[in-house]
Amino acid sequence: KRRFPNEPEYIQAVSQVLPTIEEEYNKHPEFEKSNLIERLCIPDRVIQFRVTWVDDSGKVNTNMGYRIQHNNVIGPYKGGIRFHKSVNLGILKFLAFEQTFKNSLTTLPMGGAKGGSDFSPRGKSDAEVMRFCQAFMNELYRHIGPDVDVPAGDIGVGGREVGYLFGQYKKLTHEWSGVLTGKGREFGGSLIRPEATGYGTVYFLLSMLDTRSIELQGKSVLISGSGNVAQYAAEKCIQLGAKVLTLSDSDGYIYDPDGIDREKLDYVMELKNIERGRIKEYADEYPNAVYHAGERPWNEKADIALPCATQNEINGDEAKALVANGIIAVAEGANMPSTPEAIEIFQNAKILYAPGKASNAGGVSVSGLEMSQNSERLSWTSEDVDNRLKLIMKDIHDNCVKYGTEADGYINYEKGANVAGFMKVAKAMMAQGIV
Ligand code: NDP
Repeated sequence: KRRFPNEPEYIQAVSQVLPTIEEEYNKHPEFEKSNLIERLCIPDRVIQFRVTWVDDSGKVNTNMGYRIQHNNVIGPYKGGIRFHKSVNLGILKFLAFEQTFKNSLTTLPMGGAKGGSDFSPRGKSDAEVMRFCQAFMNELYRHIGPDVDVPAGDIGVGGREVGYLFGQYKKLTHEWSGVLTGKGREFGGSLIRPEATGYGTVYFLLSMLDTRSIELQGKSVLISGSGNVAQYAAEKCIQLGAKVLTLSDSDGYIYDPDGIDREKLDYVMELKNIERGRIKEYADEYPNAVYHAGERPWNEKADIALPCATQNEINGDEAKALVANGIIAVAEGANMPSTPEAIEIFQNAKILYAPGKASNAGGVSVSGLEMSQNSERLSWTSEDVDNRLKLIMKDIHDNCVKYGTEADGYINYEKGANVAGFMKVAKAMMAQGIV
């Protein structure tokens, strides 16, 4: 707090992790002696730069560019790039910190990083987005590489942006390498990468439900967001016979009492990915649905909640409403969507609650598999990648159970994920000496 007083999200993320690992940490006096916590709380490197680009009217614009290389003891830095007007240093530092533990949980050799800009693709032409991505890469390229740091997508950075970033990296370095993940299928992208975070969240949810012998089929589900993670979480829920009631964007949410089926989801995918429209248009297309402007979906009654939009999107009051409405499980597709107050309410009510670093780790896991395929110059089948994703999510779940089961049998997934993620990083840091 003294060092980073202007970074509330970063302090929130660190304050949320440290108490949960304290007990395990105290069993290892050597960690304290080597000042491990302080070393983990200060990123290896923070890169900050100006991005200058020209819009369609000829005006010269500037944006902030960042890359936080948090920790690379278990593999090259790895983490998404976020383009959104809310992006600042503290938010990216929280995301990079979380990424280090998440990547450790995946069982794959990847360190933690995050980057981005306060540029928002919303309302920009394709040509403007391309020029911005090129300008961003003009600086970023010198800090990344397939064995150094491998960025991917995040909010505001999907297939289109990754393609432009990759094209510019290739131009600048005169080399084709798997330096970004989430690439197009035609140039080294992995099958199942677009689906991976949403699918993985639902696979994790299935394992959680299984601990209480509950089936997903027939359950009602609230989903927030309508971007990459939300779309594929919804797709997997629908495939498995659940009823998806809501989707949202930053302007509001839609509630469809009949459930969002395959055909309606196809409409959303077209609306969001191709027309780049707003979720309120869903209610014009399907008049049984209701649009709630400026609100979030957490006051609706349902069995399961999958927050898949952004950080701090479920506050204490909304968590209380979910619990009062009989929610069974909350699995986070987004990073840190629940505030500390909300998490406490879920855990006190003993509902199944999974933090993003465990339940949304499927995205970076398949990114890791994309790196493997690029190194091998091979492309695996959908079934192969999907099966590996299922196994990884199950492994993460089992690790959470191992480290997070409390005396009364309640599985504290937050503690489990933090301890499992931390221990691997800590041991690797110890082994590599004071550097
Ligand atoms: P997208 O940009 O594809 O979608 C983001 C969605 O969330 C949009 O519907 C967007 O609405 C909404 N949203 C964004 N910011 C806000 C905000 N401040 N308030 C309300 N709604 C908001 O991003 P992703 O689906 O990729 O990412 C969603 C979350 O999942 C993020 O927390 C991300 O870090 C996390 N995540 C993503 C992974 C991935 O593989 N993509 C991997 C792991 C985690 P609008 O269109 O109005 O902006």
